[in-house]
Amino acid sequence: MIQGLNFIGFELSGDNTEYIHAFSTLENTYLQGQFRIATESEIEKALIKAREAFKIYRNTSAMQRAVFLETIAQKIMEKEDELIERTMKEAALSYKRVFSERDRTVHQLKLYAQMLKEGSYVEATIETADEYRKPERKPDLRKMLEPIGPVLVFTASNFPLAYATAGGDTASALAAGNPVIVKAHESHLGTNELVSDAIIEAAKQCEMPDGVFSSLIGKGIQLGQHLVLHPAICAVGFTGSFTGGRALFDLAAKRKNPIPVFAEMGSINPVVLLPNQLKQNLKKVVKEYAFSIVLGGGQFCTNPGLLIGLESKTLDEFIKKLSKQIAISESRTMISENIWAGYYSKRQKALEQKGVTLVTEGTGDEELKGRPTLAMVNGRNFLDNPFLKDEVFGPYSLIVRCKNEGEMNRIANQLNGQLTTTIIANEKDIKNYSETIDSFKENAGRIVFNGVPTGVDVCRAMQHGGPYPATTDSRFTAVGEDAVKRWLRPVAYQDCPKSYLPDALKNKNSLKIRRIINGKPSRKTL
Ligand code: NAP
Repeated sequence: MIQGLNFIGFELSGDNTEYIHAFSTLENTYLQGQFRIATESEIEKALIKAREAFKIYRNTSAMQRAVFLETIAQKIMEKEDELIERTMKEAALSYKRVFSERDRTVHQLKLYAQMLKEGSYVEATIETADEYRKPERKPDLRKMLEPIGPVLVFTASNFPLAYATAGGDTASALAAGNPVIVKAHESHLGTNELVSDAIIEAAKQCEMPDGVFSSLIGKGIQLGQHLVLHPAICAVGFTGSFTGGRALFDLAAKRKNPIPVFAEMGSINPVVLLPNQLKQNLKKVVKEYAFSIVLGGGQFCTNPGLLIGLESKTLDEFIKKLSKQIAISESRTMISENIWAGYYSKRQKALEQKGVTLVTEGTGDEELKGRPTLAMVNGRNFLDNPFLKDEVFGPYSLIVRCKNEGEMNRIANQLNGQLTTTIIANEKDIKNYSETIDSFKENAGRIVFNGVPTGVDVCRAMQHGGPYPATTDSRFTAVGEDAVKRWLRPVAYQDCPKSYLPDALKNKNSLKIRRIINGKPSRKTL
């Protein structure tokens, strides 16, 4: 039963008489539950609790936090159909998609738990003293990664589970040893409550400190802004629009003590169709892109929004065949009214730009649904127009027909930072277009060969983050074990007495972790 309350640590609270409702685009109606907007005193209480909880939580062992994350995963699974049904309604997603997203959420939690059990993520580095070094003694220096402090998470509207309340940002921040405050997304308030409940149940069962997790409800941007500016918050995770991410980044930079904001924002994920591979695999490429462009109603940050090819008969054939497939793709209900309205206004604006023509549209109505759309422009018009380089969030893709390789290279040099770039190429193309491929790589966090950018594997080798404006810091990833690094900071201990050294840095390697000792990797005791 949805209660519509804020989670102020272990306390459920709803002091305000003002509330908001969750809206289902699927049912075109408001859903059960009145969600109380957090009052100033409730917000302050959550922040104080987070700060106090940090003093205890940062000293929990990696093993304790691993068990905590595994217990969250278990509690989420115990929510069973109630969670899946609510998420399906709130985010207008299919049973299959929500089911697999829940599995991904649970998988991520377990992955971080595994990482904690292994323990080497702290990157312990030891350089022993050299008493005889001239002209000065070399001190004993030992460095490791430690938690940064309470983390504020703005959850993603397009991933109501896997990048939301217990999603990648929360899971990695908790793994690192930081309390988390979630700013609930208006698009999935009920899902947020059910998942918050699972986290709190797990925290109590694992005897984690009160305040290790809070979840707050707000109306408009005030709550998020207040939290970003609060001195108790030490870092921010965000997934959403460029406007929102940049505003929060600027706000955090204006603080007396600026804090990092890891914002994942827009990306159009260019796909470069090189001629030999395209010719030899035309059918396959068409099939894959007809699927990828409309997957999830196009509401993925890795949606292929730009297809770039060289003018040729093969490219014409590709456009003709892809267009046939898109024309029979049905429009799909979008996650929120906001995203739906944004899709049509950006699509309209894109189609009005000089030289842009509509190639084809999908079938079905447009009421709260996103109609698949394929548009086309030539290289020159694309180069001249900054608007065409921005994201149209939804099932939209723009084909750019380039006159020659030089035009393609100029496009590569002009594009904004991207989460992904895909190269459709065989060995001959790689040899003939190496400069083009290099130029496109410059802008991308992940370079995909002969596939589609949608589908982000959760593992250590994944990079989900690219040069600005795809993210605010291209050195970090939001997916995979390395996402934890956003919430850790290096601390060096100089000539530190053994009694005060963290276990990871003591001579005896009781944690059996991989360390760098005097320049060499080792799991041995010093
Ligand atoms: P959003 O508008 O950026 O909102 C995300 C979260 O940030 C919400 O909780 C929102 O609070 C908060 N927020 C936004 N601007 C803020 C500001 N200036 N100050 C403080 N808080 C702020 O994103 P969305 O609602 O998820 O979707 C809107 C659009 O974002 C989409 O149409 C799409 O274009 C883009 N989007 C992109 C991706 C991607 O991965 N590239 C993913 C999702 C969305 P409130 O809701 O309370 O305003």
